[in-house]
Amino acid sequence: MPDNPENKDLIEKYKNLLDDFQTLDAEHQRTKRALEIKEIEVKAVLAQAHEIANTDVLTFLPNRRKIIVDLQEEVIRSNRYGTPLSISILDIDHFKKINDTYGHTTGDDALRSVAARLREQIRNPDTIGRYGGEEFLIVLPNSEIKAAGEQAERLCQRVRTLEIDSNNHTFKVTISIGVAQYKIGQENWEQFLRRADEALYKAKDEGRDRWVVAGG
Ligand code: GH3
Ligand code: MG
Ligand code: MG
Repeated sequence: MPDNPENKDLIEKYKNLLDDFQTLDAEHQRTKRALEIKEIEVKAVLAQAHEIANTDVLTFLPNRRKIIVDLQEEVIRSNRYGTPLSISILDIDHFKKINDTYGHTTGDDALRSVAARLREQIRNPDTIGRYGGEEFLIVLPNSEIKAAGEQAERLCQRVRTLEIDSNNHTFKVTISIGVAQYKIGQENWEQFLRRADEALYKAKDEGRDRWVVAGG
């Protein structure tokens, strides 16, 4: 190439463009990295929000919304694959009396203690959630009523022996449980839950501190 002023001008322009390109590229890489970090942060915040939305603030167990979703999913699975499914509804006996005798704060402590004791006893893939005030729901995938009954018996025993300490008071509580096995293809999750709830009421009627199997 002849060394004329036009070429020099072109080379100069080319160098400037190359400089600009490199500067912009470096900036682009920095922005890309910053975006990647932001994306990770957004995902972490969303995961935390999801966790909070599904967790009961008092007991840190899955809340009613979450345990119902678990139940609905397991009912779908049971209908699709024909696998057995059982549930247990637990309710603390005479809990109102705890609040009335020792106060609401001690009532809250009792709820936390019972929840922790129950959680200790529940193994994957079973899940337990706080279904209502002093009620809990356990979902037992792949389980027949016999296994759910054995678990219910163990839970009644383990809660019965739990010593609750709160604000200088020591006391014990008992639970009643309604246990039901899903009737595949014959009922929806609400009817299933209702049968377990009826069994729970029967356990209360029969004297509490016991578990009862739901009828058809
Ligand atoms: P039963 O044996 O028939 O279940 O009697 P119970 O007294 O447990 O039943 P009831 O439904 O009459 O009372 C439940 C009580 O649970 C009333 C309510 O104040 C109390 N409770 C519900 N949620 C909470 C809570 O988050 N903290 C406290 N401290 N008490 C609660
Ligand atoms: Mg209740
Ligand atoms: Mg109760």
